Amino acid sequence: MSSLASPPPAPGAQWSPPAAVGEWCPLCGAALLGEQDWCLHCGAAARTRLAATPRWRAPVAAVAIVLLVSLAILIASLVKLIG
Ligand SMILES: [Zn+2]
Repeated sequence: MSSLASPPPAPGAQWSPPAAVGEWCPLCGAALLGEQDWCLHCGAAARTRLAATPRWRAPVAAVAIVLLVSLAILIASLVKLIG
């Protein structure tokens, strides 16, 4: 283990991020150095940002309402035809 560039921190010492830290891992919060694309702590893709979820609730609700109205009209017409 003599090939390490920096010596391990002393026992009990607080770990502090290097001065060149620009970003943090979105999952575990580990420091990312330079153009680092992957988190070395948890392995997550550090530069990947999740897109916001699309607002699909309103369209789905509208389609569901249209389907329910159509079904009700169909049932009413069938009942009127049969009865
Ligand atoms: Zn991470």
